[in-house]
Amino acid sequence: MTTIYIISAPSGSGKSTLVEKVRQLVPGLEFSISYTTRAPRGNEQNGREYFFVSRAEFEEMVRRDEFLEHANVFGNYYGTAKRFLQQAQQDGHDLLLDIDVQGAAQIKRKLPEAVSIFILPPDRKTLESRLRNRSLDTEDVIQRRLVTASREIENYGKYDYILINDRLEESITGLKSVFLAERLKRSGAAPSADDAETQATAERCRLSNVQERLQPILASFVSAATPGAR
Ligand code: ADP
Ligand code: 5GP
Repeated sequence: MTTIYIISAPSGSGKSTLVEKVRQLVPGLEFSISYTTRAPRGNEQNGREYFFVSRAEFEEMVRRDEFLEHANVFGNYYGTAKRFLQQAQQDGHDLLLDIDVQGAAQIKRKLPEAVSIFILPPDRKTLESRLRNRSLDTEDVIQRRLVTASREIENYGKYDYILINDRLEESITGLKSVFLAERLKRSGAAPSADDAETQATAERCRLSNVQERLQPILASFVSAATPGAR
């Protein structure tokens, strides 16, 4: 049985870094390549990071009901093709979707058994410095991403797991544990001693178990949005 894993995060939280690692560490995981109408960035290649299509092509795919979910993000269309899920089911693989909060909500409505993970930075200041150090965006774009991040973060409560990406190695272990623990649970197999540790690590990332750690993170975004509160 194919399990769908959804990962969402405000830009700069470290999602790409973590997804790349997890793809290397978790076997039998297919990555869904989305369709988008935005232009390729840097050395992105058609069919590798995304399928880059025109608005007309995208709209035609919507008309033909080819998407599992689709959304308008920052003025461009993005969508997950149904055929990726069909292919993963045929191959007996799990499927990883890197999609925004709107897409995640659509998938959860259609397929409630999908596992959703939200990645958060340790606080707003760290997010800002990661966006700067990445050196991909202009100052204007960085400021826009920070405003969008405050809005996206409000959706954290809709996710099954929350990963606070502070120390990278710990985050990689946490994320990998979520994948493996969910897989184990769904297989119905009896857990070994190693599995029990994996399950305990995954449990620590469960929404209900991170509430206390979330409050200062959320507060760092709220205070930044309130003039004079910094
Ligand atoms: P996203 O895909 O969420 O936009 P990236 O993976 O591009 O984010 O990460 C943003 C920047 O932060 C990159 O320069 C990356 O190397 C760095 N980064 C990611 N995770 C960590 C971490 N745990 N600690 C420090 N830097 C990190
Ligand atoms: P970027 O343009 O920076 O690659 O992605 C912008 C946002 O679009 C990210 O939050 C990313 O997760 C989201 N995204 C990428 N593909 C899809 C998709 O197929 N569907 C939805 N809903 N969002 C997507």
